[in-house]
Amino acid sequence: VHTGSKPDISREKSAELYEKAKTFFPGGVNSPVRAFKSVYGTPLFIQKGDGCYVWDADGNQFIDFCGSWGPLILGHNHPKIREKVTEVMQNGMSFGAPTALENELAELIIKNNKFVEKIRFTSSGTEAVMSAIRLARGYTGKDKIIKFEGCYHGHSDSLLVKAGSGLVTFGETSSQGVPKSFALETIVIPLNDKDAIKAAFEQFKDEVAAVIIEGIPANNGLLIQDQDYVEFLQQICKDNKALLIFDEVITGFRLGFEGAAAHYGVKPDIVTYGKIIGGGLPVGMYGASAEIMGHISPDGGVYQAGTLSGNPVAMAAGIAQLTELSRSGFYKDLNAKTTEFAESIQRFATARNYKFKVFHVGSIFWFAFTDKEAIKTAEDIDPQSMDKFKVLHRELLNRGIYIGPSGYEVGFVSAAHTKIELEKAKRAILEGLDVVFRNK
Ligand code: PLP
Repeated sequence: VHTGSKPDISREKSAELYEKAKTFFPGGVNSPVRAFKSVYGTPLFIQKGDGCYVWDADGNQFIDFCGSWGPLILGHNHPKIREKVTEVMQNGMSFGAPTALENELAELIIKNNKFVEKIRFTSSGTEAVMSAIRLARGYTGKDKIIKFEGCYHGHSDSLLVKAGSGLVTFGETSSQGVPKSFALETIVIPLNDKDAIKAAFEQFKDEVAAVIIEGIPANNGLLIQDQDYVEFLQQICKDNKALLIFDEVITGFRLGFEGAAAHYGVKPDIVTYGKIIGGGLPVGMYGASAEIMGHISPDGGVYQAGTLSGNPVAMAAGIAQLTELSRSGFYKDLNAKTTEFAESIQRFATARNYKFKVFHVGSIFWFAFTDKEAIKTAEDIDPQSMDKFKVLHRELLNRGIYIGPSGYEVGFVSAAHTKIELEKAKRAILEGLDVVFRNK
């Protein structure tokens, strides 16, 4: 059924490319969400990006709120990043030996961030988290980890685990190919539930190496946790000699230079970053106190390595991006702009009695078709509401607005979004909501 008041944009070229891609890649993509399985139509093949805009293969132009899923906090093709990368590339692409660029990016991060004393660069967020878990296990000499239903930490085996039935359970694998015995080392509990984590620590006394949580969970809706709960996590970890890991792959350098840890004023034992620190190139990292990081090879016995880790071109992109972010007032402006954007959409939806909420923090926002005042756990999200998101998504594409192709994904505002584009996007969203609710 066509519900839109706007005709569909042409996706002919994208559809052609997609058909071809399906002959090469499972589902035609190199990462599943890109396949547009939860929304209408074929995936858009992107040809170029500039500032807050992207263009697809059919020449359609969009205001982009996906930002490559978070890294592009300065927008696409930022001249400072492009110039730095181009300059560094003239000297070659990779050496597998130390370069001064690694020092430079590390110094930018460590000097401006009180939560890490020593770090290690990886090539993705997945690797960063996987290594952080190994470090926690090596450091504590314990095996089990506690994770939360509704948090995503990349696709390593220990973390592709979801809650089983019951309050405290061993997890069940959430992907084929993950051995049951691995899932047995991962305990999965609901967010925002002190009793659940207390029970987990009681049941698995002296077995838990670490509790891992996203700085602010932003992979399954935006599940903003209470201050009190995050402080409680820190305390219960201390009491049980388990490490608290903040996975700040999304929130790191997004909420501010020091991410969610500074937002809550809670110091995690290990932090992981990714996305933004690579300026659009593949970089992840984990960091901790010098003492904890001393357990990483070659100083210590926890092995972790990477052919392309600290790649000079990727370091260059990170240096250029973080240099911009470290300018005074950067986050204040970006966050204020996002708040205004989110709240003005909310005012409209509320005035029309739409069952719709815009949750937001820093420059992250999430559209939820709900009348709940807050959503703090995965269970609070109504799967049925995703039908409405699907309609909104198409209405937005047809009005030149690109958001991630799933209602569980958050959106990102970048420094490149000006008042003009935010106003245009807002109008499109309001029209889209009118279509969604008139048809339901
Ligand atoms: N951790 C979090 C919180 C993430 O959001 C992601 C990716 O979205 C990852 C880890 C995995 O990072 P990557 O996709 O770079 O492997």
